[in-house]
Amino acid sequence: MTEIRLVRGDITQQHADAIVNAANSSLLGGGGVDGAIHRRGGPEILDECRRLRASHYGKGLPTGQAVATTAGRLDARWVIHTVGPVWSKDEDRSALLASCYRESLRVADELGARTVAFPAISTGIYGWPIDDGARIAVQTVRDTETAVEEVRFVLFDEAAYAAFATQVH
Ligand code: ADP
Repeated sequence: MTEIRLVRGDITQQHADAIVNAANSSLLGGGGVDGAIHRRGGPEILDECRRLRASHYGKGLPTGQAVATTAGRLDARWVIHTVGPVWSKDEDRSALLASCYRESLRVADELGARTVAFPAISTGIYGWPIDDGARIAVQTVRDTETAVEEVRFVLFDEAAYAAFATQVH
């Protein structure tokens, strides 16, 4: 059974086997979680992202997929980069958001990670409503078969924490 834990805080300060990055498809950095991870993790992460772009993802990492790199100076062994969908009121992109969580756990299993810290993917710059983002996150983790023992959702603000708490309790 995977234990789901909620904490309030900054994901870059977490100690975990793997930390998930709400990346964009360029893999070359951005704002929000992405910017914070590269700032605190140092240049090693970006170097590996650049190599991945050149070797495997010439057109960028597709939405809903995940790939791992070193965690640089972060207190983790790996960063798992995943690209969330941009929120759309006209189109249901929930399956892509669920895929981010599922694929990140699949990569975590490949790595042998036992503790994985996730941010609330797509709920920042990409505009996904936090209540729905929390519902999809928790439901997908519960429905995914994985050897990961602890999934820790790291929520940046009180509203995000409350949205996740409603789903978990
Ligand atoms: P996206 O582009 O997928 O929306 P963001 O990084 O903009 O990704 O935001 C995703 C979520 O992470 C938002 O809820 C945002 O408030 C939160 N967030 C931003 N910075 C951090 C951080 N350092 N640690 C944890 N969560 C963060």
